[in-house]
Amino acid sequence: EKTPVMRVVNQVFNDFKMIHPEFTFTLDSDVYSNPIVQIYRNHLEQVLIILLDNAVKYSTKRKEIHLSAAEDAHTVQIAIQDFGEGISEEDVKKVFNRFYRVDKARSRDKGGNGLGLSIAQRLIEGYHGKISLESSVGYGSIFRITLPIVKDDNEEMAEKNTEA
Ligand code: ATP
Repeated sequence: EKTPVMRVVNQVFNDFKMIHPEFTFTLDSDVYSNPIVQIYRNHLEQVLIILLDNAVKYSTKRKEIHLSAAEDAHTVQIAIQDFGEGISEEDVKKVFNRFYRVDKARSRDKGGNGLGLSIAQRLIEGYHGKISLESSVGYGSIFRITLPIVKDDNEEMAEKNTEA
């Protein structure tokens, strides 16, 4: 399935804004074309939901979430940043593992199984993309996704025009 990434990003972003009015959500996009990625729309939605859900869940004090998007010739990059509790260097290596949860006692009351990030990683890598994490305890986290662009709408239009 060919999915217009930014349409999905905008939709999920707006959903979260509605569901969590106590949070300030900002979106900063440097994407001016309409990049198309080979991914099931549902799968892309699911990954964004996992990352945004976590950002909400693990930001107890500063309720601010920043989403940014950029593109180059071959890829589209999406970053989700929170200013929550953050993750230690040691745990950054482990949070993508199945069932891994930082500080089980603390996160038990937040629900979850420690599966979200492993699912997100499996999905993104299944589509030849990459997911990475940069974090610092007490300062917050940034999750970055990179996905290969198949084509953008403008190119498809140009092709149609030359065919005609
Ligand atoms: P679920 O299975 O519902 O997703 P979960 O949130 O525990 O549960 P993951 O999404 O895989 O599972 O996250 C694994 C662990 O990584 C979490 O338990 C939490 O400790 C840590 N973590 C994930 N995202 C963040 C974040 N944005 N800020 C701080 N810690 C995080």
